[in-house]
Formats: sequence, structure tokens, C-alpha cells
Amino acid sequence: MPWFKKAKKPKPIRRDGPRSTVPEGLWVKCQGCKEIIYSKELKRSFRICPKCGYHFRIEAEERIDLLLDHGDDGEMGFRELFVDLSPTDPLSFEDTKSYKDRLAAYQRRLGTRDAVHVLDGTMGGLPVILAVMNYRFMGGSMGSVVGEKVTLAAEAALEQRRPLIVVSASGGARMQEGILSLMQMAKISAALARLRQARLPYISVLTDPTTGGVTASFAMLGDLNVAEPGALIGFAGPRVIEQTIRESLPDGFQRSEFLLEKGFLDMVIPRPELKATIARCLRHFTASSIAS
Ligand SMILES: [Zn+2]
Repeated sequence: MPWFKKAKKPKPIRRDGPRSTVPEGLWVKCQGCKEIIYSKELKRSFRICPKCGYHFRIEAEERIDLLLDHGDDGEMGFRELFVDLSPTDPLSFEDTKSYKDRLAAYQRRLGTRDAVHVLDGTMGGLPVILAVMNYRFMGGSMGSVVGEKVTLAAEAALEQRRPLIVVSASGGARMQEGILSLMQMAKISAALARLRQARLPYISVLTDPTTGGVTASFAMLGDLNVAEPGALIGFAGPRVIEQTIRESLPDGFQRSEFLLEKGFLDMVIPRPELKATIARCLRHFTASSIAS
């Protein structure tokens, strides 16, 4: 749809195929207040409902656009790293469809190999390594490629002495890779520990939704863990928890604001302020420890 096409510069991530996270059409119904919003207005307002502030999910590439600086000439001021890493099918996993076929379909549709993008760029003038998970690729699930790319992102940050920012959006570990998905949690955590030893800041940004093995590892290991308003953040889903503890859950359970109140998060930051706030925090963190 032409309303969603941006006229400017080419992007590292292709954008063909259907879009599940961004509603198409002229008018969009807000899931927060049920009001009907003009989609152009939504686009102008960072995909935030102008009436109730509900944050619609955004694409990985919009997120990258939003967080990284652009060159003066309208050129991309950043580049994508490790684009060639591609998942394999070590368990020959098959349910209704083989994992291999499923992967191939996602890769064809989204024009990317797996569910995370790693970028080298600047944020408010400060060189950073940024990783952004792509929820549209198999629900942002973490298999060996996501694990490896986030680890490589941490290692690039270490090598270049830059802060690391990871934006999570994930349903958790990818079951089709079994134990190999689970071991990514330990691998990434170890890489983050090396970053910490080197006194380089790591900021985790949790967006809607961040669950499962991603919450249980790198999404909660930031020097700062910040989230967008109203994001679903948790390990297991609310239904599983209710059935386990046999109690009904409080209002707003597993949403950003609830987690902030309970001390799981450091900040809840509205989308328009995300970049400036992170950049400001990084300046506070970094006196002499990083590249500039
Ligand atoms: Zn609304």
C-alpha cells in the first residue's frame, strides 16, 4: 500500500510480502481504545494512538530508522552486519510442515535470513552496535542464528569499545532447534558478562511482546532494562501461570508499567522519546570507556 511506502533511500531489509504487525488500509482500529484512526495520522505519530497512547507494534526496519542517525545527505548512516548467517535444520524437525520449508517461506517473504538484525551506526552522534529482533520472522524466536548474531553483536561492541543496545520482540526460544536454542541463552549471557567486565554499557529495550527464553536471558541483563508503554513482558504466558498457581492474576499483569512498579524494569519510555533517552543515558554511562 502506498501509504506505508517511504520515498527515501534503499534499506538493508527488503519489504515485500504481507505485513502482519502493521494493519493495512486507510483506517485502523486501535486495540487500546477501539477508536478508528486514520492510518496516515498513525504513521506520523510513531504508530502511537493519538487518542489513548496505545503503542502499535512496529517493523524492525522502522525501529532501526527510529533509533539510528541518518547521514546528512539522506543516505543511510548505518550498515547491517552478519547478514549472511543462515539457520540450518539440525534436528530435521517436522510437524505439519518441515522446519526447512518454514524457514524458506519466511526468508522469501521477509527477505532476511533470520529473526534479528545487527547494525553498526550512531545514536545521537554516539557510535553504537544495535541489534533489533524481527517479530515477524517466526515470532522473533531465538534459534542458533539469533543467538550467534546477538553474541557477535556483543563481541563487536567489545572489540570496538562501543555500547550495545538490543531491542527485543520475541516469543522465546525456537522449539524447532531444541536444546541448541536453549544454549543460546547461556552463550549470549556469557558474551554480555565480558562486555560488563570491559565496563561497556548494555541497554536492553523490551518491546511488545518479549517472552520466554529471551526474557529469561539477555532482555533482562541490561545495565538498564527499559520498555515501551504497555508491552507484554513475561516468561510464561498468563494462562499457564493462572493454571499453575490456580489464582487469577492482577490487572495489568506482565505489562511494562506493572513490571516497572515491581522493580523488574528501570524505565518505561514512550516511543518518541526512546532514542533521545537512550542516548542521554549512554552519555551518563560513558566518560572514558568507549569510542567516540
Ligand atoms: Zn487508542
